[in-house]
Amino acid sequence: MKTITCAQMGGMCDAEIKAETKDEMMAAGMAHLEEAHPEMAATVAAMAPTDPAMVKWTEDFDKTWESTPEDVAGEESAPEATSEAAM
Ligand SMILES: [Zn+2]
Repeated sequence: MKTITCAQMGGMCDAEIKAETKDEMMAAGMAHLEEAHPEMAATVAAMAPTDPAMVKWTEDFDKTWESTPEDVAGEESAPEATSEAAM
C-alpha cells in the first residue's frame, strides 16, 4: 500500500490517495478527480494517451510511484532515511 497526494499527481489539493498498485492508484486518482475536481477530470478524459502532456504526466507519475515508500502499518514515519535533515 502506498499513499500519494492529489498534489503529487498534478492535482490541486492535498487529499491522500491510497492504493496497492500503480494501476489502482491511477484509477483512484481519477475517481478523486471526478469527485473533487470534475473540470480537471473532464480535461484529462479528453486527452489522448499519446498527448505530450499526458505522456509527461505518466512519466512523472511513474517516478512519483517508484519513489514513494510503501506505507508501514502502525508507524508514522518510514524507516528509510531521507536527505531531509532535522532543523
Ligand atoms: Zn484533489
